[in-house]
This record gives sequence, C-alpha cells and structure tokens, in this order.
Amino acid sequence: MGSIMIRCPATKRAIATGIEMDLAKFQRTAVFFSRSYCPHCRTHHEWFARDAWIEETTPQDATEAA
Ligand SMILES: [Zn+2]
Repeated sequence: MGSIMIRCPATKRAIATGIEMDLAKFQRTAVFFSRSYCPHCRTHHEWFARDAWIEETTPQDATEAA
C-alpha cells in the first residue's frame, strides 16, 4: 500500500491526497480523476492519475505496534 501524492500546480509542492491504494491497482486505473484539498493554496485542485504518484509507506511502525 502507498499514499497517492500529487503536485500542486501553483506551488509545485507535493501534496498527500490522503488516498491509500496499492501501486498495481493504481496503475490499472487508467483514467482516474479526483479532487484534493491543497494545504498550500487552501483550495481544491483537480488532478488525473497521470499527474499522481504513489509514495510507498514503509512498514517500520508495524513491528513496534504489536
Ligand atoms: Zn495548491
């Protein structure tokens, strides 16, 4: 699993969309479209899957959590 990231078109900064999806599933979703709140602009940006990428969440906390 990973978090879907997008690039803010105004500030060019990375935004975590809060959507978590498996990378393989994400890549199969050919035409994926969404809106996400941008904390930098304090507005919503519309984005397509081709503009987004997956930031893999490292399972480092999992061992400690148990
Ligand atoms: Zn923005």
